[in-house]
Amino acid sequence: SGKSFFVDLSLCTACRGCQVACKQWKNLPAEKTRNVGSHQNPQDLSFQTIRLVRFHEAHDANGKLQWNFFPEQCRHCIEPPCKYIGNMYSDQGVEQDAQTGAVVMTSRTTAIGDTVTSEELCPYNVPRMDEKTGQWSKCDMCLDRVQSGRLPACVQSCPSGTMNFGNREDMIALAEKRLKEVQKTNPDAYLADPESVRVIYLCTAQPEDYNGNLLASVDGSKMVRTAQGKSGVNRRN
Ligand code: SF4
Ligand code: SF4
Ligand code: SF4
Repeated sequence: SGKSFFVDLSLCTACRGCQVACKQWKNLPAEKTRNVGSHQNPQDLSFQTIRLVRFHEAHDANGKLQWNFFPEQCRHCIEPPCKYIGNMYSDQGVEQDAQTGAVVMTSRTTAIGDTVTSEELCPYNVPRMDEKTGQWSKCDMCLDRVQSGRLPACVQSCPSGTMNFGNREDMIALAEKRLKEVQKTNPDAYLADPESVRVIYLCTAQPEDYNGNLLASVDGSKMVRTAQGKSGVNRRN
């Protein structure tokens, strides 16, 4: 129950509409960036950039160039490590909305400060701290919009059908339907950690061929939770 996103990476054109819509809705300032020879901009998530379209060039088994796009955001874990770890420092630093399952970082996360790293809080290395205040932030599912019956800004803005949002059961059914369709032409397609997160990615390239933590890493050893592929096997190993 609750809400979920389904993110169909087979359709993403890297237009970055979602990244801009997130900034606008959240009223977050632009970052000073520099050209480093990549279309990805900025280079990483930050306290001001809580959604980032990542770019990565890779080659498939036949040596053909693949350009892989990964619009990254908090996964709204069903059992969020950031909540259990963060709330050892301050009660209610990280809250989970009972109705939607949204995981929200509050101003009380200043109590966490720089005592931990993002990777120690989160298996996807998502949240970022404000260097000035020690407060942590990340995507909050646009909870204010969702509670008033609207779609998250990133979903609303996506022109390609990549971003979907709704009741969890419906999103899981859509993910499984699209996985079967995409596997007709790409038998290696898989869903990333679908049982443990509320942002379910359909992936057409291997996890290491995306720029970022597509699957959960544990203890920095890049262990995955699950990846539901053609054979149901763990795709990373
Ligand atoms: Fe991809 Fe949609 Fe975001 Fe454009 S708006 S980068 S198509 S997810
Ligand atoms: Fe927390 Fe990371 Fe899970 Fe988001 S993805 S809920 S920041 S542990
Ligand atoms: Fe940004 Fe809202 Fe999308 Fe989260 S749900 S990435 S806060 S636009």
